[in-house]
Amino acid sequence: MMISKTFSSCLDGFDGQLVVLEASRQNSLPQIHITGLPGTVVQESRERVKASLNHLGFDTPSKKILIHLSPAETKKTGSHFDFAIAMNVLSADGFFPPKKIEKCAFLGELTLSGELRPVSHFIPLLEALLKHPTIEKILVPCDNQLESGLFRSDKVFHCRDLKEAIRFCFYDEPILSVPQANQHHPPKNQPLFPFIEQVVGQEYAKRVLTIALAGCHPLLLEGPPGSGKTLLSHSAASLLPSLNDEELVEVSRVYSFFGEQREGNRIAPFRSPHHSISSAAFLGGGSSQVMPGELSLAHRGLLFLDELPEFRRDAIEGLREPLQSGEIHLHRVSKSILLPARFSLIAAMNPCPCGYSNSNHERCSCSSEAIRSYRKKISGPILDRFPLYLWMETSWNQKQESTNTSSETRQLIEATRKKLRELGLSGGGWLRLKAHLDLPSSQLLSKWETKSRASFRRIENILRVSLTTALLDKRDIISKTDLEEAWALRSPESLI
Ligand SMILES: [Zn+2]
Repeated sequence: MMISKTFSSCLDGFDGQLVVLEASRQNSLPQIHITGLPGTVVQESRERVKASLNHLGFDTPSKKILIHLSPAETKKTGSHFDFAIAMNVLSADGFFPPKKIEKCAFLGELTLSGELRPVSHFIPLLEALLKHPTIEKILVPCDNQLESGLFRSDKVFHCRDLKEAIRFCFYDEPILSVPQANQHHPPKNQPLFPFIEQVVGQEYAKRVLTIALAGCHPLLLEGPPGSGKTLLSHSAASLLPSLNDEELVEVSRVYSFFGEQREGNRIAPFRSPHHSISSAAFLGGGSSQVMPGELSLAHRGLLFLDELPEFRRDAIEGLREPLQSGEIHLHRVSKSILLPARFSLIAAMNPCPCGYSNSNHERCSCSSEAIRSYRKKISGPILDRFPLYLWMETSWNQKQESTNTSSETRQLIEATRKKLRELGLSGGGWLRLKAHLDLPSSQLLSKWETKSRASFRRIENILRVSLTTALLDKRDIISKTDLEEAWALRSPESLI
């Protein structure tokens, strides 16, 4: 009995997993039979494969073709198995030698006429195949070339249809080159944001925003409506450095779970979900299929939460883990899935439900009880995670001063981030942070450590912010002024 073997992959949580397809022809009524926990869509693949092969003139299956997908215990879902099943049926049914495809892998859904349709969740599926040393050629649909292009691998070949794949694999004919798709298409769902130049006045707020983005320090803005919190936050989009190669793959991977191709688009994500968002859409969810939430969609970009106290409590509390580790665990019955969620965070809030408590210009109409319960929604542990806090006030006589342009500020932010990475201080490194203090700042810090009630986390945050301001100023020694500014910008321990 001849066995034909080839490869494909399936999703396992947020990752791809290799799938081996084995096919054999058996002396029984003509049919395609699939074993190895195929889902409904994979079962239906039998009909699509048969129709497309018949359309190309192959009278198959001539006997029973048994296809087994392993590992058998993993449930296989997705229409992208069509391609591998079709190629495997052809060789198992005796049309072509199985040896020709034993080191090949296939991803793609087939139409009834044998055209290849693009694959969703393509990046993790391709990664699983690229990792496997036995696989020499990976055939994928042309329509996935923006995503496959991120890997610059010479193992990947793009096909328009099954006919082209058959010629390539079994007759060793080259694949006609595919016209390069336009790499510069604008991102979907990404509105145009104002540049920082369009924010009139508010010079200190712009400085704080620059510190926040350069050091990836979460920033909480509080102030009455019309004080410019939203405009300032939206202008942050113009200050985000472009994604590097590694970040581009990470971000594209998250978006591929939505069938959205961001590939070739190096603009960092900017997400601003509405406060009515569900926990699943915010944190991530999905039962059989993982769906990254806003926290992951903002990965390597910026998450802006306007009207923070209006968000669901579990959404607000759910910020803790990603702010700590840059990742979020989704707990499932069988296992826990880890999603990336490393973003810059800006949150904005009104001081009270009507918005005008503490305002110089309008009178607040809220009861003290209403103000209390509103502000209580932001707990101490959450405030602890905002190293930067700024009260913004409407100012009527703004002078339009000359200010840095978006591109100058973005370059400064990029250079500072690069320096921080070189210093290896992006995670941990308390002692190494202290090594950057000069004598007066070191003395000031010791005083705070002994006399203030600030937690370890807060002192560490103050040090981190100080280092960022020093680096923005092109120094790598923290001065007393840096420390004092960071201290002044720390968030209150409680809002009540
Ligand atoms: Zn009020």
